[in-house]
Amino acid sequence: MRRRDSASYGKLPSRSRCTRCRKRAVVHLPSHNANFCDSCFVFFFKNAVKRALKLFPVKRDTPIMVAVSGGKDSLAAWLVLEELGFKTLGVHIDLGIPEFSQASRRAVESFAKSRALGYRVYSIVDLLGYSLPEIYKRTNRMVCAVCGTVKRQLLNRIAFQEGFRVVATGHNLDDEASRLLGNIVRHREQYLEKSYPYLPSIGKKIPARIKPLFRVEADEIRIYCQIKGIDYFSGTCPFSRGATSHIFFEALNFLEAEMPGTKRDFLFHFVRNHTPPETDINYKTCSKCGYPSYSDLCSLCSLKERLGNQGD
Ligand code: AMP
Ligand code: ZN
Repeated sequence: MRRRDSASYGKLPSRSRCTRCRKRAVVHLPSHNANFCDSCFVFFFKNAVKRALKLFPVKRDTPIMVAVSGGKDSLAAWLVLEELGFKTLGVHIDLGIPEFSQASRRAVESFAKSRALGYRVYSIVDLLGYSLPEIYKRTNRMVCAVCGTVKRQLLNRIAFQEGFRVVATGHNLDDEASRLLGNIVRHREQYLEKSYPYLPSIGKKIPARIKPLFRVEADEIRIYCQIKGIDYFSGTCPFSRGATSHIFFEALNFLEAEMPGTKRDFLFHFVRNHTPPETDINYKTCSKCGYPSYSDLCSLCSLKERLGNQGD
């Protein structure tokens, strides 16, 4: 958990002034060539989210379900959306990973309770019959890929059941830029258009996806959380060892250190030159659960079959 303190953030030249109001600066942002005081930083941060939201066809009165992991990104996204006046519900999926999931869940619950925000916690054991470690043991498949699929599918279904047409996630500029780099390097053309920060809904059952933090960097989110007193869980998932995504992340950070602003230029250029993917009409319907699917069985039902779980 992070504690709030009044120290400065980043290497700040002594007696620096806030670029916006000229008060004493506490934040230095090399990629923006700017310094900010606490309150101007919050203004800057909210503005970046407002700019992101302009790209999404989501009206201010549209309720948003926020997928919250308990980490810095999703808790920050939730708070900004609330402060911008959206009606939100936080939804957390407890993956049943010993210690990691308990700490994640506690962070979500104490954040929501301390700010009187509406939230629900769903347990993967209740929804699928197995915890993530049990799923891993039984299927022996790439655990991060399975976890990603399960979370996406369950969040879609929860959104439909809870009556939401839009789901927000906490993906930030670093996540999106490194994913884009990975897809380009590996020539994964089919995933490129999904690198857009807005994905339209598919039929009635699949909600639209938005990434309100795609214009802010991980470090900026850490600062926002410190200023706002957000106690997030900063542990890493014990299963994420061996994932390759951090390599692209580090490659971009190397470029960023040499040439501040590279990360945002790389991602924003892509976003500027692309449009949201078309609503996909080439989907079928899962023969078991009736949800949109690309094959006869959706990925969740085929996972359930592998797990030998006949219940729904
Ligand atoms: P990750 O896939 O862990 O990088 O997380 C990306 C985003 O997915 C987070 O910012 C959250 O919005 C959402 N998310 C991740 N884990 C959970 C969870 N256990 N429950 C709900 N949402 C989650
Ligand atoms: Zn299905």
